[in-house]
Amino acid sequence: MYYLLSSPNPESRFIEIECTFLNIETEYLEIQLPAWRPGRYELQHFAKNIQRFGVFNNKGKPLTFRKITKDRWRVQTESATEIIVRYNYHANTQNAGSSYVSTEFWYINPVNLCVYADEFLNERCTLQLAIPDTYQIACGLQQTTPKTLSAQDYYELVDSPLIASETLQHRTYQVQDTMFYVWMQGNIKPNWEQIITDFQKFSAAQIAVMGSFPEPEYHFLNLILPTPYYHGVEHRHSTMVVLGPDDEGDDLYLDLLGVSSHELFHAWNIIRIRPKELLPYDFTKENYFSTCFVAEGVTTYYGDLFLRRSGVFNNEGYFRELQAYMKRHFENSRYAQLSLVESSWDLWLDGYEKGIPQRKVSVYHKGALAALILDLTIRKMHRHKRSLDDVMYTLWQRFGIPFVGYTLEDYQEIVEEIAGEALPWYWNDCILSNIPLENHLNNTLSWVGLQMITLADGTVQLQELENEDAFLEREKWLNGNI
Ligand SMILES: [Zn+2]
Repeated sequence: MYYLLSSPNPESRFIEIECTFLNIETEYLEIQLPAWRPGRYELQHFAKNIQRFGVFNNKGKPLTFRKITKDRWRVQTESATEIIVRYNYHANTQNAGSSYVSTEFWYINPVNLCVYADEFLNERCTLQLAIPDTYQIACGLQQTTPKTLSAQDYYELVDSPLIASETLQHRTYQVQDTMFYVWMQGNIKPNWEQIITDFQKFSAAQIAVMGSFPEPEYHFLNLILPTPYYHGVEHRHSTMVVLGPDDEGDDLYLDLLGVSSHELFHAWNIIRIRPKELLPYDFTKENYFSTCFVAEGVTTYYGDLFLRRSGVFNNEGYFRELQAYMKRHFENSRYAQLSLVESSWDLWLDGYEKGIPQRKVSVYHKGALAALILDLTIRKMHRHKRSLDDVMYTLWQRFGIPFVGYTLEDYQEIVEEIAGEALPWYWNDCILSNIPLENHLNNTLSWVGLQMITLADGTVQLQELENEDAFLEREKWLNGNI
């Protein structure tokens, strides 16, 4: 599939799209726009941003089509072997999963606005951008000309957001065989020396645990806004992050570190260590899965732990993040009815909204606390010689590198193989039911000299206990000794 994107009047926020399908041999062609995007497991109905839609043969003759779902069009090919779809898309949202055009820059998530046909999903895609000659492109895709990007298939295309402008700033660093690019778009003067030092540390710590990085190149794409914002989305060879406000200083930098370390760990955990139900993605409808507590919970836990382990955060900085998940889980959904697996399933229902009281739990926050309990449990059983690191490494070796997808049962089997015994209490109490997590959390935390305290008003705090032995265990855990 070949896509040409232009924006004759960027102030209108409309992008004009021309998509060409070649070698058509069928009487009908069904053209689909994704109804959702990987990274956010809810229907977003991108087709509502299309204002105008038409289909033509290569002589410019309009072809007859009709909509057969909200975002699928059935075209009568009338024996044409080349079909051109022309439509426009209102790109007016600056979050990490949307698209936005202005006179200053283009920010495109191809999943929002590139149509496909099922029979072409595995074919090479070319994305041509009618951008000004002075623009540079930041994107994980292979760049074949100054304005052309190439993807091996549609799945790669829609996993590759891009920013194009003449004011992009960037620096690079290398860890083992992988080249990392950090891109910044916005009114910001980055402290590059600090950024590269810190990013190199947490990237190296993650690669040391996982053994190898999935891609030869990786791009951190950052859009920095004047207004408060915090959002990141993981992709195959990049992450898209939107942060603000641009004058926030140290707090903005802490947000950048936290979100970047989290998204980088996703390059393994969900991008390649993929729940089987999401392989391949079906962009037309809900793709239900039970393991988002692994994809998001374990990633949330490790995102911050790697910052501490690599020395970017000190203990105080790490405990502040840990206390933040405790507060978000226990102060909001301590008595929620749904378990982690049920809440994973229901992401498609109300996963990204506040929802009614005490219904669901956050796969991020309760998921991170469940990962913490599991890590400390395995470390305690094996005197730090085994840990959750071994679980993630084994998932990568068995399911990620061959890219075959894992199930909840696969995860359970690997955890118990590393632990060396069955852990029925863990699955039942922490993952599969709604039993409050507090007792298991405090039992495991006491081994490393920490406790979660609930105050009379229901708020929670993380406290450090005075205990020499526990202090030693805590340092081993935080430094990643195995
Ligand atoms: Zn995430």
